[in-house]
Amino acid sequence: MTIASLGIMGGTFNPIHYGHLIAAECARVEFQLEQVIFIPARIPPHKEDWDLLNQAERYRMVEMAVGSNPAFQVSDLEMKREGVSYTVDTLDHYCRCYPASQIFFIMGLDSLFILDTWKDIERLTQLCRFIIVTRPGYNINEEVQIRERLPADFWSQADFLEIPGLDISSSDIRMRVAKGKPIRYMLPETVESYIRQKYFYREG
Ligand code: ATP
Ligand code: MG
Repeated sequence: MTIASLGIMGGTFNPIHYGHLIAAECARVEFQLEQVIFIPARIPPHKEDWDLLNQAERYRMVEMAVGSNPAFQVSDLEMKREGVSYTVDTLDHYCRCYPASQIFFIMGLDSLFILDTWKDIERLTQLCRFIIVTRPGYNINEEVQIRERLPADFWSQADFLEIPGLDISSSDIRMRVAKGKPIRYMLPETVESYIRQKYFYREG
């Protein structure tokens, strides 16, 4: 299949919420992406010691959330790969599958701030362009030496995109469920129903 431009949205999606969906949709329209592929991470390198809902369930929730958008897809690539998920390996895969496509990696500003800890950032920079979306609570001007911490080539491959700010995070959703606070309107109804039905994120 020939695709001119492809977006990749990586994350833990524990669970997926409207912050992820609005980031992907705004990037899709602004950069005329034909498809956006959501890729739930198997073992996120930065969250190894963390109580993570199993990958099949996170995948299932992403599938429910993206089902109504014909340009959105979910991939089990990282879930199937043994060991830790590295974005550079994922991008390598997509570059080989879609040699004629321009590939964009979509991320929030908080991810940019830790990008210098990612594996092979130089190589990653050669494989894709980056769309960095705004996120409430994160300000590029307040991050110390972010310009110097990333390879010079990175900045010519990066575009910033201002999106409607949704101060929603998966960790806050998990905490709210545990404390009996509402999560309605923070994520798709189908995903909330699934969380309730399966008793996810409940304390004890
Ligand atoms: P957690 O609280 O568990 O870290 P999260 O809400 O940050 O979860 P992730 O799965 O870590 O979600 O994020 C996947 C990607 O989506 C990251 O690049 C992150 O920056 C981006 N993202 C998540 N929530 C938002 C949001 N509300 N606005 C903009 N970008 C977001
Ligand atoms: Mg996060």
